[in-house]
Amino acid sequence: MPLDLIISGARLDGRTVDIGFEAGRIAAIEAHIAADAPRTEALGALAFPGFADSHIHLDKACILERCAICEGTLAEAISGTAAAKAGFTVEDIHARAAGVLAKAVLHGTNRMRSFAEVDPRAGMRCFEALSAVKAEFAHAVDLDICVFAQEGLTQEMDTHAMLDRALAAGADLVGGCPYADPDPERHIALVFDLAEKHGTMVDFHLDFDLDPTGSAIPAVLRETEARKFGGRVSIGHVSKLSAMAPGEVRQIGRRLADAGVALTALPGNRLAETAPTPKAEPPFQSRLTSLVSACGAPVARVNRAPGVPGRRQDGRRSSQPSAKSSFCRTAGEITIG
Ligand SMILES: [Zn+2]
Repeated sequence: MPLDLIISGARLDGRTVDIGFEAGRIAAIEAHIAADAPRTEALGALAFPGFADSHIHLDKACILERCAICEGTLAEAISGTAAAKAGFTVEDIHARAAGVLAKAVLHGTNRMRSFAEVDPRAGMRCFEALSAVKAEFAHAVDLDICVFAQEGLTQEMDTHAMLDRALAAGADLVGGCPYADPDPERHIALVFDLAEKHGTMVDFHLDFDLDPTGSAIPAVLRETEARKFGGRVSIGHVSKLSAMAPGEVRQIGRRLADAGVALTALPGNRLAETAPTPKAEPPFQSRLTSLVSACGAPVARVNRAPGVPGRRQDGRRSSQPSAKSSFCRTAGEITIG
């Protein structure tokens, strides 16, 4: 067969194979391909379809040195990051995002969803910079840009108009943070309105605390079902799940699955962000696992790069990554055990 390239000796599903390419696509996978084509030796390296990172903030990546960490709380992370955002320039965002993306690609990530903050303080700078990065890395990674309202919407409708403009300018999808809005349910509805208008998906940051009551999930489910948005809705973080009784988690899991709402959990971030109550966090993964096994809802777990220490409120260094560290290594797309 006419092949353009052969990668020899790659490990795939426990066996060693040659992979042949034709016109940029995989044309053959065999134990040994005898063809006259340029060869690259994989030397037993793993071959796989690539990682997908379903939740990253490329616009806020690598700003640890710009944020003081004194309390190690979620509130401090949010306020510190918001303050740092005011100093972002398009060039600055571009340089940091491109650096992270290059590392992610080299580690095997080929699909990624990044949030881009759009509001009167960030302007359109995050979206502008990430749009350029997306085009520059299009050969290596499919990057979706989710423009989103990190700091509320109903109390600052300028943000709504800016999100509308960003979507018209080519943003892939839209998101919000209901917990940061004085009217969370209206916030959710407004984000859905924008998605309907522009024909995009939605992705929410949801339930950032360990109080099992007051979840915004029911509001998202209502809008999803009323607008027939199943399969086009994602929610991330959702820390309240770790504080709920297992039966309630399973019930929510079934409702998410039935409605077609996907979940991204970020347990590494949560460990840092929910300080000083780290003892409340360990059940999270087991409850997440039960959620997955009970309902089959699409679930991703994003693990942040280790070794970026945060500081807990008791003053001790935490081995968990700081909430301000947006650098992400890679993430499995669906599975998690
Ligand atoms: Zn996030």
